[in-house]
Amino acid sequence: MTLAVLACGDDGAADTPRHLLLVSIDTLRADAVDGDSARRAATPNLDQLAASGGRFTDCWSPVPLTLPAHSTLLTGLPPHDLGLHDNTPFPLRRDVPTLASWMAEAGFATAAVVGGEPLARGSGVERGFERFADPPRGAAGATHFGEWTARDVTDAALAAWREFDRTRRRFLFVHYFDPHQPYSPPRDCLPTGAAMPATADDRYRGEVTHVDRELGRLLAAIRGGGERCLIVVTSDHGEGLGDLGERTHGYQLLPSTLRVPLLLAEIEGAATRLPPGLEGADRDRLASLADIAPTLFELLAVDPIADLPGVPLHRPDGRHPARVVETLAPALHFGCAQQYGVRGEGALLLRGGHDAPLALPGADWRATGHEDERLLLDPGRAPPSAEELSSWRSALADAFVSRRPPATDAAVPRDLSPLGYLASSDERDRHALLAPAANQHGRSALARRATIDRLLEAVATLDGGEVLPALAALDEILAADPEFFAARFFRGRAKLAQAESDPRRGGAAASEAAAEFARLLATAPDYPGASLLRIQALALGGEFATAVRELESAAARAAERGDAAIAEVAWLHGSVLLDRERAGRPNPHFDAEAGFGLLLAAVRRDPQRTDRLRKLERALNDLSRTRDAPPWVAPLQQQLPRR
Ligand SMILES: [Zn+2]
Repeated sequence: MTLAVLACGDDGAADTPRHLLLVSIDTLRADAVDGDSARRAATPNLDQLAASGGRFTDCWSPVPLTLPAHSTLLTGLPPHDLGLHDNTPFPLRRDVPTLASWMAEAGFATAAVVGGEPLARGSGVERGFERFADPPRGAAGATHFGEWTARDVTDAALAAWREFDRTRRRFLFVHYFDPHQPYSPPRDCLPTGAAMPATADDRYRGEVTHVDRELGRLLAAIRGGGERCLIVVTSDHGEGLGDLGERTHGYQLLPSTLRVPLLLAEIEGAATRLPPGLEGADRDRLASLADIAPTLFELLAVDPIADLPGVPLHRPDGRHPARVVETLAPALHFGCAQQYGVRGEGALLLRGGHDAPLALPGADWRATGHEDERLLLDPGRAPPSAEELSSWRSALADAFVSRRPPATDAAVPRDLSPLGYLASSDERDRHALLAPAANQHGRSALARRATIDRLLEAVATLDGGEVLPALAALDEILAADPEFFAARFFRGRAKLAQAESDPRRGGAAASEAAAEFARLLATAPDYPGASLLRIQALALGGEFATAVRELESAAARAAERGDAAIAEVAWLHGSVLLDRERAGRPNPHFDAEAGFGLLLAAVRRDPQRTDRLRKLERALNDLSRTRDAPPWVAPLQQQLPRR
């Protein structure tokens, strides 16, 4: 009998928690909150939930990247089904039901507070939430995401919880971003006895402790209401902290970046217990973020979304399906090998990027007899049987069909083919197929780590406003590796920054930036942001007709995909029209009114974007139109920091 049978009406069954709090703590390694390894952080609140509720010890993320992993958590579908492989340029598809939309349909009041920019409005995560709070964005293309601290997140979550309609069941999704780099915990959250200055590992653990403290504050308030609430705490991915040379996450497939904590508990006033329905569950079973949505539907007695691939956590079947894992970001951004694999019971099967050393303390690597594969066994586990391995390979083949010859099918979505996706008559495969074309170098991210690190250093220099040293570093990288398209992208950005800061020689730098982006786009036509930056460079260099033409085509593409870039295109369109007007070269097809309208709409939609507000302000001044601004503009202008 499933729990759904017990459902009775909108308020759920008698033996069902009334509300749901789903907490994701970004970048949280499973061993930071479990066991007694050197990675362990002080987390009294999470420990209490685990001790009185339940901890699943073998839960895996399908991908060590924030937006794709959360998309799986919030839809129950893996990244290859969603066609969502990185934070950009893949917003969550609009045709897929989400946990929020489904819970709303079941009568829940829904709200989300997200602490990090990758999940901010526009990512698609906001869909289905009646109320959605997100942090201000970081500077465009910066190395650090915009984020809220755990304290801000808890404050916003408490406000959302207080303001929920009390007559309805409630679903609150809360995302803490603090353990994501940079690590800067409050001093009193650092581990006891930490050396000063604190090491990166200690600061990471301090961030985890900080989140635990803030989660405690949120739980205390919910307990104060006295109603039964199901609490689920998990993470999108872990953090390398130096394992196999990986400091952060996303470059390789590793247990430290893929294994995540998973805690479930029911609270009611001061009481904490295992949620009804999980009593007989095998908590050491292989689990995935994809299992959470189907579990919640059953534990909360909500009709489930049909056909989710995950297996509810309490289902007693002895065996659990192997789960496909992937990281394609190194291929998308740095031209490295794609890595993908399968997490089966007791082992991780990996493909791709084999030129990397396998030094991982205590790791038990095995060959499989397949030249493109290696197997990492859990400590003390026997290798999988030939039959198991073959079923894992089938799972992989089912998700990704690799090494197919490039297709000539005209139906290939234009925006996917350049990134190495191949055509297929199967709609799902269109998002999933991977071609060697994306393996520009075919080498692992680890083997190319020195080059990638040099690039990231140059980008940090650029973000710090030191344009010329950044340009010198980028030129050096490109001299050694002219096809390194991420380096080309940032060289374009550096030239653009130079054009913006040097009005005298700006025209030449702008043209060079536009040419740099054009060269990049010839290799990777949908490299995130490149076409819009090229348009900015064209407008800055006074090439308005080309800029407007390229904008129109970008707008058509964004509209076709229904993606969030459309807002960006609209803003840029307004901006280019006004630049043209200010340069005394009015557009024959549009007057300044169209530009003002687009710019005003963009500022109103996202008032946190001070760069846009400044642009609007400049246009209003230069065209002597300040008195035409709608009344809501002035208060925003007053909040602008003056330089
Ligand atoms: Zn993340």
